[in-house]
Amino acid sequence: MSQLDLRELNSTEFPIPDEMQGNVAITSLSKIYNWSRRSSMWPLLFGLACCAIEMIATAASRYDLSRFGMEVMRASPRQSDLMIVSGTVTKKMVVPIVRLYNQMPEPKYVLAMGACASGGGPFKEGYNVVSGIDQYLPVDVYVPGCPPTPQALLFGLIALQKKIDGQSLANLDDVPWYGVGPSEPTPIPILGPDIIDPRQMDLIRRQAELAAAGKPYGIREIPAPVQKQEAPQVEAKTKAASEGSEDEAKAERMRKREEALARKKARQGS
Ligand code: SF4
Repeated sequence: MSQLDLRELNSTEFPIPDEMQGNVAITSLSKIYNWSRRSSMWPLLFGLACCAIEMIATAASRYDLSRFGMEVMRASPRQSDLMIVSGTVTKKMVVPIVRLYNQMPEPKYVLAMGACASGGGPFKEGYNVVSGIDQYLPVDVYVPGCPPTPQALLFGLIALQKKIDGQSLANLDDVPWYGVGPSEPTPIPILGPDIIDPRQMDLIRRQAELAAAGKPYGIREIPAPVQKQEAPQVEAKTKAASEGSEDEAKAERMRKREEALARKKARQGS
């Protein structure tokens, strides 16, 4: 097992005597929180198509995912932090994929591996294929290629680690799950004669009515991003807390959390 290298954690701004470099770490809470998350990210164990073979090769001894703390692929979404969408996403499979994503605890990340998962790949516009998993789930990293090599997947995983390294507990846009409670689940698509996104239900209904009346009904569009919602109860709390500075600070924190959560929902809905 590799030894913990404290230089990874030490803040470079604070001088530590040379003789103590290997024994003392001075760091920030964000840094140690990010370091522990990104060094123990467990991927969900599933594969969809040819890209999955490359993912399996990445986990094998030659490339060795355990160097990144990612070798523990979990067969349960409850124990997974990372969803590697490795392969062609068919309309039939996107339903369980979104359901599995909803079952993963926060914080959770999605990596789209290969041309198919990123945008449909060679099967784009095929009758049974989804043109990219990002139409349903928020993707953190895209890995191009058909298929991407294990090195490319590792590069994508390192990019994800760098993204996590850049997050801060002080910025609720980075960590909206922290202290705000569970977020809304992503609507699970419905597979009928074609795939239906529940977020488009009103639009589909309106278009069906126009079509039945023999009027032009346009093309199906992704609904506009959810607008930032006002939080009247939180504002009321802010007013009520004006007498004590502690209550004020608490109300301000609550308001920022609500806003960060609303922005996250808007991003997921777009
Ligand atoms: S991107 Fe290429 S290799 Fe990967 S699943 Fe699609 S067709 Fe297969």
